[in-house]
Amino acid sequence: MSKEILISEVGPRDGLQSIKSVMPLPAKKAWISALAAAGVREIEVGSFVPAHILPQLADTADVVAHARSIAGLTVAVLVPNLKGGEAAVKSGAHKITIPLSCSETHSLKNVRRTHAQMLDETRNIVALIRAQPQAQRPKFEGGLSTAFGCTLEGIVPADKVVRLAEQLMEAGCDEVGLSDTTGYANPAQVKDLVRRVRRAVGDHNLSGLHLHNTRGLGLANVVAGLEVGITTFDSSMAGLGGCPFAPGASGNIVTEDLAFMLEAMGLAAGIDLPKLLAVRKILSDALPGEELYGFTPDAGLPLGFVPATRSMAAV
Ligand code: ZN
Repeated sequence: MSKEILISEVGPRDGLQSIKSVMPLPAKKAWISALAAAGVREIEVGSFVPAHILPQLADTADVVAHARSIAGLTVAVLVPNLKGGEAAVKSGAHKITIPLSCSETHSLKNVRRTHAQMLDETRNIVALIRAQPQAQRPKFEGGLSTAFGCTLEGIVPADKVVRLAEQLMEAGCDEVGLSDTTGYANPAQVKDLVRRVRRAVGDHNLSGLHLHNTRGLGLANVVAGLEVGITTFDSSMAGLGGCPFAPGASGNIVTEDLAFMLEAMGLAAGIDLPKLLAVRKILSDALPGEELYGFTPDAGLPLGFVPATRSMAAV
């Protein structure tokens, strides 16, 4: 098990795209700055999609510009196609992810493209990135969404996920990630699928998991991922976004709970927990009426708690 774990905050993208309220640009900037000040080193700040589809993320270029001014922060964005890829490269984002839904039915519904068409988009974005000067090339990840099951197709066979992972790498992605878009994953399945995909594409080409807490298994799935060597976990502050199919369930796994668990387990995520918990105030002020999830923020930190990050820093 690695002793250092990267928390990739996806609230400004996955969280905000799932709620009706539109967070004003100044609040987004303040939120991202405060997250970084609390020790978050990677943030997916938005998505380059047409504004009429996701008005919540229409200001992504401005958000990227702000996030890029924060020293040491990796600025990530999501793009569904070449057009989004062009905007992402122009914005100067450090990391670009293209989602490829393992369920083709979901892919057609979500981005109106077949697997073959999405792989074409991927190759086109790779060509675009490789045409940039070396120092300006963003890292490019293929995100395998609905990898653990789909609300439209049901079971997604592991062999299919493995094959698509290989195809994304062949198309020129730097790495692939596995996303439990629907909250279907369980810990045994996480271990099995990570092992299978790594066997096919190599250990270093799969480092991240994107988990949702729809059925309450989010953190159990994180532990399963840790046990098979995963070192990056996506999460969202306050589990923003919720889940329309599971009342009371957060959307993404909750950053605050994830950070507490990792730090309590002796795994340094670099997070200052009291500072992180204070950042929620920005959300409650900017998004009145939106439900904020998380157990650690409600219960507080245990008496005498020593986070891994602090004990390691003291050595
Ligand atoms: Zn998600």
